Amino acid sequence: MPQEPQSLRHFGRSPKGIEPSPRTHLFLRPRELSRQDSSSILRWDLDGGDVNHSLYWTVPSEFDQILPDADRADHALCAALLYAMSCKKHVHCEGVLSPSLLEGLEELQSVWAKWCPQKYSRIQISAERYSDVEKRTGAAGTLVAFSGGVDSLFSTFRHRTGEAGFGTKSIEAALMVHGMDIPLQDQGTFAAALERSRKQLEKTGISLIPVATNARLVPQLWEDAFGLILGSCLLMFQKRYQYAMNGSEEAYDQLCIPWGATPITTPLVSTSSMRSIEDGGGFNRTEKVGWLGNHCREALFHVRVCWAGKQLYKNCGKCEKCIRTMLNFWVNDLPCDQTFDGDLSVAIVRDVRVSLVQLAFLRELEAAATHKKGRRDPIFRALRSAVRKNSFRMRWEALREKISPSNSVLLKTAVRAVPKFRESFR
Ligand SMILES: [Zn+2]
Repeated sequence: MPQEPQSLRHFGRSPKGIEPSPRTHLFLRPRELSRQDSSSILRWDLDGGDVNHSLYWTVPSEFDQILPDADRADHALCAALLYAMSCKKHVHCEGVLSPSLLEGLEELQSVWAKWCPQKYSRIQISAERYSDVEKRTGAAGTLVAFSGGVDSLFSTFRHRTGEAGFGTKSIEAALMVHGMDIPLQDQGTFAAALERSRKQLEKTGISLIPVATNARLVPQLWEDAFGLILGSCLLMFQKRYQYAMNGSEEAYDQLCIPWGATPITTPLVSTSSMRSIEDGGGFNRTEKVGWLGNHCREALFHVRVCWAGKQLYKNCGKCEKCIRTMLNFWVNDLPCDQTFDGDLSVAIVRDVRVSLVQLAFLRELEAAATHKKGRRDPIFRALRSAVRKNSFRMRWEALREKISPSNSVLLKTAVRAVPKFRESFR
């Protein structure tokens, strides 16, 4: 029996030596691996705080051989970590945890506690046992998180064509998760989106693995937690693949912090069996679309980016993300009609309303279009107008936020002063 590492001897107890208890801890409890139709289901109960959820991860049965043991807690812990940090409860897993994952999660906790000190506090994590996953013989290759969007498509094809230099990974499989952008009850939409992804990958030899999870039920802010939930799904395959890859949303010069998946946080969701990589930060979205247009145009035309339309397996052509991606196509002289419902028009570009983060994407487009398109181009003018209007709106909103509280204090002081003022004239 190998000796337990010195650094793990304090686990199983909180630093003050208190045994895990419902008052101070959340509990993750494994259930039997079950099978239904042609799927295998891993279940973990999350008990404590304001929640009592039965979480599940459903995988096609053909992957049974590479699934973790039912009591392997790595993925369950990732799904619940930010929730525990938000309600300041330690976590005790009634199963096995990888010490190598805990090492990364210690640092990940520090990141979130520093980014959002009002929201997240560092907690203690403990388990019944600690051991890393034993790799299967011949395990290698990379599993890429695949939504069919620009970022995952770019990472998949860039590595497949060997264009990532010494960093090139062998992409063997793509993981598509149901329960993230597409709601679990919407099975028809997920099936259609999966089909769309199959078409993108059909000549690559890369297998597509669908996973469904209800981990989004855990009450935590989605913008913060989605990277950990995606990481939890990837970790279920750590016996088989050496790397887990996530396509970066922002380029290194546009990083949005705090955010659920960044080059800072993603690598921390790694184990000794599977290293997580945030890929593609050296390229912005316009550059990615240009590269895809040159290297795999057919797959690009099946890209799926929409999250606000009525049918999420296709692109509505009206929401901010669709319009932004249509502009990426326009800058690169690529036609939009095969990919989006509706055309790019002056009116939809001029009137697009964006958040602060999305404004950075519009500015990136404006800069690219300044070089690639003439300033007289009507879409360019509409884009410039949209950047100005949204910048002005944000400055105004920020100013209003600053003014309102002081106005309110002034008003309250004046109201309190009125009786004393009257009194002084009596
Ligand atoms: Zn849309």
